[in-house]
Amino acid sequence: MTYAVTSACIQCGTCFDVCPVSCIKMSSKQAVIDPVECIDCGACLPVCPTEAVKTESDASSAVLKFNATESARL
Ligand code: SF4
Repeated sequence: MTYAVTSACIQCGTCFDVCPVSCIKMSSKQAVIDPVECIDCGACLPVCPTEAVKTESDASSAVLKFNATESARL
């Protein structure tokens, strides 16, 4: 399981401060979550001001793929 960030991200960085394993990275347009490193704690979801963070079951396959490929590239 993992969480994922959608294009609603405004790159505020709030989620960076709460992630206990530092698995959130910033791509050119938005934050992304590394699905390999994420421990599924849920800390990032309630702090996002734009509700850009989604659970794996709420995220589309395209969003999950983007988070995985971008975080692997960064
Ligand atoms: Fe980090 Fe927890 Fe959010 Fe995963 S669910 S990205 S471990 S804060």
